[in-house]
Amino acid sequence: MTMISVVVPLYNEEAIVTRNLQIIAREAESENHTLEVIAVNDGSTDGTWAQICSAAASDSRIRGVNFTRNFGKEAAILAGLMEARGDAVIVIDADLQHPPALIPEMIGLWKSGFPVVEAVKASRGREGLASGLFARAFYTLFHRLSELDIAGHSDFKLLDRAVVQTYINLPERNRFFRGLIHWAGFRSAHIPFEVAERDVGGSKWNKLKLLKYAVNNITMFSSFPLKSITWLGALMFILGGIVGAMSLIQKAEGSALDGFTTVNLLIIMTSSILMVSLGIIGHYLSRIYDEIKGRPPFVRVSHEKDVR
Ligand code: UDP
Ligand code: MG
Repeated sequence: MTMISVVVPLYNEEAIVTRNLQIIAREAESENHTLEVIAVNDGSTDGTWAQICSAAASDSRIRGVNFTRNFGKEAAILAGLMEARGDAVIVIDADLQHPPALIPEMIGLWKSGFPVVEAVKASRGREGLASGLFARAFYTLFHRLSELDIAGHSDFKLLDRAVVQTYINLPERNRFFRGLIHWAGFRSAHIPFEVAERDVGGSKWNKLKLLKYAVNNITMFSSFPLKSITWLGALMFILGGIVGAMSLIQKAEGSALDGFTTVNLLIIMTSSILMVSLGIIGHYLSRIYDEIKGRPPFVRVSHEKDVR
């Protein structure tokens, strides 16, 4: 019989965990498959883990994974995927902002041959102006630099076993779930959804944590910032040429201050040579960075059905 796993990352969700795990399990339940719900406690400092334990004791479909401290949602998702045994694995937020009612449709699309089913935000729900602008800036920059368009994508996804295995097998330690699943390139179906209001408590991300997350994700997928120094060097070189020529002309006209031309030319030459050299080092560094990440050069189609 097919088995479906649902992975739920949780950080300080004691107010909602018991109720929401049951709601998620109820929506994902069907007589056509067995179900397991993996609740990953990402080092909550409240009673979340105790609640997961009692939920697991009263419901054999629920299992818990417990972290020593808060390692972040990405780590929690990875731990859940590694723990999952299902033929398909669904990742969903605990706060019901990802509507669990979509799960049966996701499973249906998976059964019809899609190795990835993604719930895509039709709108971003109610959020502040600053958060909205920030998100838009991030997705635009990410798209430009990584050439992967993930605007509107969320972590609410169904992954076939083959996709889960590909994801787990990546040697990267710093991960961006949404970006990497898109990078892996499996055929995917999209289901639009409206982001619901969070029922209890606020977002577990503060602005600083989000900014760090954004910078990490962009640098994980693009070495443009490193390479851009070469362009700065080239610009410096051109500007330097102009300033240098002007100094030489002034010298020839006799209007230059004594010794000034030599100092000018020396500064221009050394700074542009330094800039270009840094850029070259940046290029090598980015090659090393790419090699270290160890992303495979290709991913193979997993099923005969998975053809475009
Ligand atoms: N979460 C987590 N670790 C963290 C932060 C959040 O596991 O360090 C979980 C959280 O419990 C929730 C999901 O990730 O199930 C999404 O978090 P949240 O609702 O705070 O994010 P937002 O909806 O604002 O993107
Ligand atoms: Mg949320």
